[in-house]
Amino acid sequence: MAKKHLNFINGKWIEPETGEYIENRNPADNSDLIGLFPKSGKKDVELAADAAFEAYKTWRLVPAPRRALYLYKIGDILNRRKEEVARVMTREMGKILVETRGDVQEGIDTAYYTAGEGRRLFGQTVPAELPDKFAMSIRMPVGVCGMITPWNFPVAIPTWKLFPALISGNTCVIKPATLTPASLYLLMEVFEEVELPPGAVNMVCGSGGEVGDEIVSNQKVNRVSFTGSTEIGRHLAERCGALLKPVSLEMGGKNAEIIMEDADLELAVDGALWGAFGTTGQRCTATSRLIVHKNVHDKVVKMLVERVKGVKIGNGLDESVKMGPCVSEEQREIVLKYIEIGKSEGAKIVCGGSPLNKGEYAKGYFVEPTIFDNVRPDMRIAQEEIFGPVLSVIPISSFEEAIDVLNNTMYGLSSSIYTREVNKAFRAIRDIQSGITYINGPTIGAEIQLPFGGVKGTGIGHRESGTAVYDFYTEWKSVYIDYSGKLQRAQIDTFNE
Ligand code: NAP
Repeated sequence: MAKKHLNFINGKWIEPETGEYIENRNPADNSDLIGLFPKSGKKDVELAADAAFEAYKTWRLVPAPRRALYLYKIGDILNRRKEEVARVMTREMGKILVETRGDVQEGIDTAYYTAGEGRRLFGQTVPAELPDKFAMSIRMPVGVCGMITPWNFPVAIPTWKLFPALISGNTCVIKPATLTPASLYLLMEVFEEVELPPGAVNMVCGSGGEVGDEIVSNQKVNRVSFTGSTEIGRHLAERCGALLKPVSLEMGGKNAEIIMEDADLELAVDGALWGAFGTTGQRCTATSRLIVHKNVHDKVVKMLVERVKGVKIGNGLDESVKMGPCVSEEQREIVLKYIEIGKSEGAKIVCGGSPLNKGEYAKGYFVEPTIFDNVRPDMRIAQEEIFGPVLSVIPISSFEEAIDVLNNTMYGLSSSIYTREVNKAFRAIRDIQSGITYINGPTIGAEIQLPFGGVKGTGIGHRESGTAVYDFYTEWKSVYIDYSGKLQRAQIDTFNE
């Protein structure tokens, strides 16, 4: 009998009010049942929001350096349990062990980095224009934060949201993706072990339509942080707009790598393969388009096809495997649909293009790593997010054309250019419309001490990670202290004396 997992509310493990559960199965082997997880409803979110609302009253008063002590301990425990969490994540999500270890490591890094912020959270002191007056700005917590997370980074992305919210003095209600609740469940066990005050973090499992919707609507939730598709993000922006509730949206991408004719081709092709097929192409920063100068195009395509043959596909728990399955049957259907669209648009398949569903692959949702050549920038496979192991090669004739093609999508998350010319590199940094640009590196591989997020259809101006994230989890308060003992009028007395 599969283990029944519960919601984590007010420091306790609680059955969902609905009494209903959803199966969580391994996408590499659907006979592997990981467990049953709550299919919660509106009442469960209300309970969680009430707990967070009460906990906020005391948590906001705990000095930030003391809140940090919990995060240091959380980092230590995650470090100790890294392998266990990574294995569960590989089972529920499919990505290979080296990548799930990396996902947990990102959570550990975020814990320590954010704990350090407990002794910073800098405001500004500035000169006042009047005598005997002091002026400063301080960061204030914002209350209960609602968090809605995707399945592709089931530990890292929740920690990007939870830890900065906590260190700032906020409390949290978080929902994992329906496909990957087990990883977040283990993170809740860590919160329990460090004895985080009850209600400071609450997890409610369930569907986006029910649990996600109530997190957005609940009156006790003051702001919402979402990572997921642009389609759902747009819907949440509309809802939050009507409620005047601040919302941070980290959404889809259609990232591109440019290979110029002067590039180190070995390096560029390695970067393209890792960017396109790492995490089975299911990263928001995945390389989906490869924009290649015509003078090196044939050589690059040949190298890609040759090296793709070395990508071993299978169950990510096998250490020799280099690429796991799609996360679900539905996701594989989307990928296969786009492969058909690419063919019908006239793009040329140079490798892959088929599902793998026989023998050892029969119980999983595998697709061959697929490369399309001669893709035109206006084709759907060059414009729409596929979120699978499909790479579109687009030939170009100049640097200017490469930048135009790269910018010609509705998204703007990550980008990359391989060139040895420093002038081209700096022009690319200046002209590419994206939140992240790599020079001579693949489109994936963000580090947590820099802001993370995108422009255009990827985001609406917020960032996670780095110090930029505090602009979402805090509000500025400007403070004026007049110790002159008399009425002083700004803008008036200064210039009339
Ligand atoms: P998704 O379908 O948009 O789901 C994301 C989350 O939203 C899930 O928890 C989902 O719940 C929930 N949700 C769905 N409908 C909702 C609704 N009506 N109201 C409230 N919440 C709702 O995205 P996904 O398939 O999990 O993840 C893939 C997408 O995420 C890709 O587009 C990828 O680019 C993007 N992503 C972006 C970043 C970034 O930082 N920019 C990072 C990672 C992923 P259910 O699980 O129950 O559906």
